[in-house]
Amino acid sequence: MSTHTLLDSASRRALRYLQEIGDRSVVPDPKAVEALCALVEPLPATPTDPDTVLELLDARCSPATLAMAGRRFFGFVIGGSLPVTLAANWLAGAWDQNTALYRVTPATALLEQVALSWLVDLFGLPEKSGGAFVTGATVANLAALSAARHAVYTQAGWDIEGDGLVGAPPVTVVIGAEAHPSVFKSLGILGLGRNRVVRIPVDGQGRLRADRLPQMSGPTIVCAQAGNVNTGAFDPFEEICARAHEAGAWVHVDGAFGLWAAATPGREHLVRGMADADSWATDAHKWLNVPYDSGLAFVRDERALRAAMAITAEYLPTETDERNPADYTPELSRRARGVEVWAALRHLGRAGVADLVERTCAHARTFAEGLAAAGYEILNDVVLNQVLVSFGDAATTEAVIADLQRDGTCWCGSTRWQERTAMRISVSSWVTTDEDVRVSLEAMLRCAARHRTTA
Ligand SMILES: *Cc1c(COP(=O)(O)O)cnc(C)c1O
Repeated sequence: MSTHTLLDSASRRALRYLQEIGDRSVVPDPKAVEALCALVEPLPATPTDPDTVLELLDARCSPATLAMAGRRFFGFVIGGSLPVTLAANWLAGAWDQNTALYRVTPATALLEQVALSWLVDLFGLPEKSGGAFVTGATVANLAALSAARHAVYTQAGWDIEGDGLVGAPPVTVVIGAEAHPSVFKSLGILGLGRNRVVRIPVDGQGRLRADRLPQMSGPTIVCAQAGNVNTGAFDPFEEICARAHEAGAWVHVDGAFGLWAAATPGREHLVRGMADADSWATDAHKWLNVPYDSGLAFVRDERALRAAMAITAEYLPTETDERNPADYTPELSRRARGVEVWAALRHLGRAGVADLVERTCAHARTFAEGLAAAGYEILNDVVLNQVLVSFGDAATTEAVIADLQRDGTCWCGSTRWQERTAMRISVSSWVTTDEDVRVSLEAMLRCAARHRTTA
């Protein structure tokens, strides 16, 4: 089996897969999932032909996948992959560049640099901000918060990277009660504690209440949010940054998907003051529709991020005037994930990103209007791409969601929002059309009607 035939076969299989998921149920056939057990076998003693391996993958796994790449997947605020990003991903896979150091992998290191400066511009962040390409917003939060930790400890006269946390002065972490769990996880990994935080109450949309911020003094990090994972709401950054900076505190913004609202002219009101913060985290694999795994951290003072992340070693050619990607990331060896981000931005341009964001937000509004018109309660202000709908009591809503997932026309998950059970609709995919929204809405109403309780 030649490399040529093998890669050709992979691309044909991938194309067929993408065509087929448009027509099949979004959830895989339960029989296909059951058949996965054939993969649980002892390690083969002898080699297998590569095409047989590929055939096994395709035959066993393709039918057992959830159609996340498809047009009617509305779970988890994640998009699909723009064709140009999938193609760039294949090419970059062939390059196999370990993108840690500029002198070793100049092409892919430069693509990161270019994409980073485009994004800083697109989001309206401070011009000299540094950044890191990481696996996702969880690690972007971790990287940005390690820069924050460095900065507040340096201010307190403590070398946190050198001397560690044992015996260090305490740091106060102020955080909205509705922050994403990954921020708490990052704080835990950094030794700042998941629970050792000052939790600020939120309003009915999950926005941190700036009027409840405490008096801040000493080393302090404030964690704000752009885009609540349930409601899509944005914290009041202007007030938060003003109060925090008055006290010399660092402000970090988790904007896993919400940061992209800054890329469209219609939504300035949501992101007002966001660029006043000190660091930001976002995902490219959510709203920019690039393949996993692709997250980004931005830090206003890039020296803080470098101080937390850079390493040197005798065997590594780290000397350069250019940007060494590994100086900014938790990883040393890493894939060239900037390639897909660059390809998406080069393809879409400013107008294309804005259109992608606005189009998906419009789809979300259509869902909300259709469900409300049928008498179902929308629990959030639909300010972005997120819709929370209740079909009645918790059991009824859960039953409708289960029905909808079985129905297979589209896929939405359940959530709890301020003591209520809701179905969560996230529209984030480039490939979703008006017609997809229409048939998905029909499916939702069909499933909901079966459980409608007449009073
Ligand atoms: C998705 C999300 C995260 C986590 O991002 P990953 O890419 O899954 O690591 C963090 N914060 C918010 C607000 C999110 O929506």
